[in-house]
Amino acid sequence: MKDPLEATTLQILKAIGEDPHREGLKKTPLRVARAWREITSGYSADLDKIFNGAFFKAYSREMVIVKDISFYSLCEHHMLPFFGKAHVAYIPGRHIVGLSKIPRLVETFARRLQVQERLTAQVAETLFKKLKPRGVGVVIEAQHLCVNMRGVKNETAFAVTSSMLGMFQTDSRVRAEFLNLVKP
Ligand SMILES: [Zn+2]
Repeated sequence: MKDPLEATTLQILKAIGEDPHREGLKKTPLRVARAWREITSGYSADLDKIFNGAFFKAYSREMVIVKDISFYSLCEHHMLPFFGKAHVAYIPGRHIVGLSKIPRLVETFARRLQVQERLTAQVAETLFKKLKPRGVGVVIEAQHLCVNMRGVKNETAFAVTSSMLGMFQTDSRVRAEFLNLVKP
């Protein structure tokens, strides 16, 4: 067993009092290692590759919104999932970006150990830096299994975070329009 993720999973199984050699668990270290490579694949993603060739000339300066982007991430404090929906909006400057790139951007930052606030800020700042729009707004609502399953065990609580840049920060009408359009 050369893969350190596999070896570590075997240790965890032992540490929680399991028999890692029983039938159902034999391949668990291998499966866990594969799952973890996938759900943390955001570390190796190339941000420039995501946007490569996906910028087009803007013909209007109306707000563009991609709503209800579902995502799955891992909280860095407990290494347990948090998941929910991201809403991303921007007001174009000279360019617009292919709409499918925005969920890809969310996924790239979600597939790492995260805190929800940083995930929100990274999506907003990256879009702002790469696309150079007149403003960016990001709202993320998520449920955290570390809250739902353990500790205070609040099964319905979810957290909402936002990041507003450019016109979304300076113009309250722009911000209000965005928040109105994404409200549940
Ligand atoms: Zn947590």
